[in-house]
Amino acid sequence: MAKTEFKAESKRLLELMINSIYSHKEIFLRELMSNASDAIDKIYYRALTDDSLTFDKDQYYIKVTPDKENRTLHISDTGIGMTKDEMEDNLGVIAKSGSLAFKNETELQDGHDIIGQFGVGFYSSFMVADQVTVISKSLDSDEAYKWESKGTDGYSIEPYEKETVGTDIILKIKDNGEEENYDDFLEEQGLKTVIKKYSDFIRYPIKMDVTVQQPKEDDEDEYEEYQEEQTVNNMVPIWKKNKSELTDEDYENFYAEKRYGFDKPLKHIHINVDGSIRYDAILFIPESAPPDYYTADFEKGLELYSSGVLIMNKSADLLPDYFGFVKGMVDSEDLSLNISREMLQHDRQLKTIAKNIKNKIKSNLQTMLKNERENYEKFYNAFGRQLKFGVYNDFGMNKEDLQDLLMFYSSTEKKLVTLDEYVSRMPEDQTYIYYASGDSYEKIDKLPQTELVADKGYEILYFTEEVDEFAIKMLMNYKEKEFKSVSSSDLDIENEDDNTEEEEKENKEVFAAMKEAISDKVSDVRASKRLKSHPVVLASDGEISIEMEKVLQSMPN
Ligand code: ADP
Ligand code: MG
Repeated sequence: MAKTEFKAESKRLLELMINSIYSHKEIFLRELMSNASDAIDKIYYRALTDDSLTFDKDQYYIKVTPDKENRTLHISDTGIGMTKDEMEDNLGVIAKSGSLAFKNETELQDGHDIIGQFGVGFYSSFMVADQVTVISKSLDSDEAYKWESKGTDGYSIEPYEKETVGTDIILKIKDNGEEENYDDFLEEQGLKTVIKKYSDFIRYPIKMDVTVQQPKEDDEDEYEEYQEEQTVNNMVPIWKKNKSELTDEDYENFYAEKRYGFDKPLKHIHINVDGSIRYDAILFIPESAPPDYYTADFEKGLELYSSGVLIMNKSADLLPDYFGFVKGMVDSEDLSLNISREMLQHDRQLKTIAKNIKNKIKSNLQTMLKNERENYEKFYNAFGRQLKFGVYNDFGMNKEDLQDLLMFYSSTEKKLVTLDEYVSRMPEDQTYIYYASGDSYEKIDKLPQTELVADKGYEILYFTEEVDEFAIKMLMNYKEKEFKSVSSSDLDIENEDDNTEEEEKENKEVFAAMKEAISDKVSDVRASKRLKSHPVVLASDGEISIEMEKVLQSMPN
């Protein structure tokens, strides 16, 4: 049988393919599953316009069968198959995609989207196989053909016997000894894992003969083994289902199944968008922060699917840092992917989705704050610090997104309150939002600096985390009310029995002597109009408060 050589460019491209385009060998299986699914989709489309064809869903499936002894892996589909010419065109010329041509000819609708477009996925089989055989019978032909290739040196095509329409692919799995091991692709469990990981939501059943163990009927202690055909993939992803059909438990199971976290999520957000960019997403607000959350090890990101096929485990671009705690996934048909599907080509679509998602998270948190206060406080205890870092890190750029999500402990309410709640309670004569910093609520309660403000009946926000005051400085104000530390020197509070000027005069020498004695610690000693029961108080002039100075001094240079 004459062998056709690959074209020179194809040869080079094939080498490139095998060695460098994909970072994980296991994705060959994703590519072959996608091709099989595309082939079945093509029959589905044909049936839409061809009355002689009926699309009976049960007849269409993909079957994966490993043969350990012969080191082969068989992948069969009942899709549209290939004619001899199509084999030449689509498998003989690298970077030629029959699926892309089909996509361009067919009006796609109904969410059935063909995955293929680059014409290279098929060749990824050579990453794990040293010989690939394709036996196919097209819906449009009575003859079947066999295509075979050992890689870069070319391929052969010859007539073959095959009764049913569809395609069988047989991979001769490499046997490279210890260094690189491909044996997982001959094992039931290994194959199942990879299929679940990348192809769980392929719309057609992916079947495998799975070994099942069962206690023998006459002797419970002995097991008998038998093979049972099972469908390995889930097929209909939860995010494509109707929200009204799903319960909280369904979402919680999905969260656990996906190992997004070991806690129970506080809230799920299910988004279906059918606008200029279409996507579905399920997002979760976790209840507790993972142990590495506030460390450099933590990686934010959402899973990214393209038409039900997993493209990326953690797409960081989908989440702003300050919502980095959100878990979940996004599936879109509208992404332009690069050739290996490991990266996105244009991030315009992704940016639109990310912005959309950010707004959804924000509005959901706001609703939670309004309607489920207790849950929100749980959330805030776990991730409030992240929100405050968010305000601080981008120089207040995210002010609009975050300021209404912040909470601080209130001196008068004795619980966490929002800035909005604070401002709406302010008496008319109060100009500032007052805050006091310290290690704990109890310690702040005892600060002499709080006395005058508290006496005036004004509410004080207690800052116990280092980031609090820094974040507030970035906010500058809330609803036009500026923030003011109770330890700043210009509190703008009238003390009725103010006699500081007299005291200043009377004690001029005492003050001068005190200043002299502690001149390395303070810049001035003055009479204060804010003291009531305490004899002395520390105050700061200008922007940097005493607490901030402490933090700044403790930071490594
Ligand atoms: P892509 O899927 O991006 O088009 P591939 O290299 O994966 O590129 O496949 C090349 C072409 O080969 C496909 O477009 C399709 O026309 C054809 N093909 C591959 N696998 C099958 C299959 N199982 N059944 C029918 N046609 C197939
Ligand atoms: Mg493909």
